[in-house]
Amino acid sequence: MSNRRNIHNNMFQDTSQTPLCNHLTLHEAFVRNRNSSQPWKKPSQQDSTPALKDEFVGLTNTGLNCSVNVLLQTLYMIPEYKDIIMRYGRKSNLKEMDNSVLYKLYQVFQNLNSKKEVVRVEEFVQCLKLHHINVEFQMDVEELFRSLMHMIQEEQKCINRSVSPAETEVEETNIFSFTTEEHTVCSECESEFTQKEEMLNIPLSLHNPACDTPYESIEKSFEAFFSYHQLDQENAFYCDKCEWKTKTKQQCRMAYFPKVLCFQLKRFGYSTNLRKSVKISDSMTFPERCKISNKHRGQEDESIYDLFSVIVHRGTAYFGHYYAYIRHLPEREWYYFNDEIVTKASWKDIEISFGSSKHSYLGDDCSL
Ligand SMILES: [Zn+2]
Repeated sequence: MSNRRNIHNNMFQDTSQTPLCNHLTLHEAFVRNRNSSQPWKKPSQQDSTPALKDEFVGLTNTGLNCSVNVLLQTLYMIPEYKDIIMRYGRKSNLKEMDNSVLYKLYQVFQNLNSKKEVVRVEEFVQCLKLHHINVEFQMDVEELFRSLMHMIQEEQKCINRSVSPAETEVEETNIFSFTTEEHTVCSECESEFTQKEEMLNIPLSLHNPACDTPYESIEKSFEAFFSYHQLDQENAFYCDKCEWKTKTKQQCRMAYFPKVLCFQLKRFGYSTNLRKSVKISDSMTFPERCKISNKHRGQEDESIYDLFSVIVHRGTAYFGHYYAYIRHLPEREWYYFNDEIVTKASWKDIEISFGSSKHSYLGDDCSL
């Protein structure tokens, strides 16, 4: 069932059955190509790691931990992340600590590695509760992802401080985070200001508020996120040089591309008219492979990513269930992970989660 409660509640049955993509994880393509003039190359056999011969196993759901399960399966399936957690789990003395999320994650990964039977996650969930993360209450998968990453990074820092600096240098611990640069230009005096921000994912809107139409694809929404915005009136910036709030041009760019890039689709919001949380079912398509590019001051930087994991939410803003489609690298076959169930999946299964092409945007009363 779910941390967004049970969707089988009859009151919500009619509106909650449509599966909608909610969180996307992209993995850098096997052959990285930052130069747009170079054609895409297929990975050679040497680039690939051996295929797993056995099927994958599921995770128990003893209550409402489906959001934990989709994240655990996604993290486990990322080869580089699994390697990092396995290394940390082996070398540290975390075993003695009941509240080590990193060690509990290592244990889950170890059990998933055995591929024998459904893996129990009660101890991991209990450990989250020790950190005041109670999955029995409604929790968005994004919120959980950020909390989990924060706790694990803090533990990694502690471990790194206790080992030799030489060893620390070779540890790449964060494959998700990236830096954005927010570039602001005053339209009066042309003063420029740049602010850096560390991010774990890119929040994407489903619709364009300027013309009240859906973006319809992650490429268009991504382009809008990194395009120039004019800030004026109540959004105007105070310019130190002009000494008043002026019209400002603002643009955000990625300082570099991470190995794994996550997108949050902003399907949950609050309607001031309806006075309640709402879920937006607008269509948002995404390809299996995409080129992500950044344009800034005439320069263009780009990277090619393979879609890796699609976390789907079925239900309303209050009740529902999470499951995931995750690709097995390097064969790139899709698998369906729904708590204890793991089966092979096809691209057609995933396309169902794009959402409705019928415009469902609730107007400017909806805050996201
Ligand atoms: Zn100015």
